[in-house]
Amino acid sequence: MFEDETVDVGCPRCGHLNTIQVREFEVGAEAHFVCEGCKTGVKVEGREFHERLARLRQEVEDLEREAAREPRGKPRRPRKGDFQI
Ligand SMILES: [Zn+2]
Repeated sequence: MFEDETVDVGCPRCGHLNTIQVREFEVGAEAHFVCEGCKTGVKVEGREFHERLARLRQEVEDLEREAAREPRGKPRRPRKGDFQI
């Protein structure tokens, strides 16, 4: 699911946020990309990246939990198709 996700990685040199595809990273591996801002090659440690990703997933989970909580507050109107007698 997360393979097509992207993460913004800030350039250590100019601070430009580069959008990196998650699938380019592997745990324990180093990844390299060229900063769009200053064209410098930036190295990202897979470990650091995955810590970032873990935080991102946590945020998504929190959002999903929030979204799941919402319908409970409102009365659910049953649709016609839900009942078959
Ligand atoms: Zn840069």
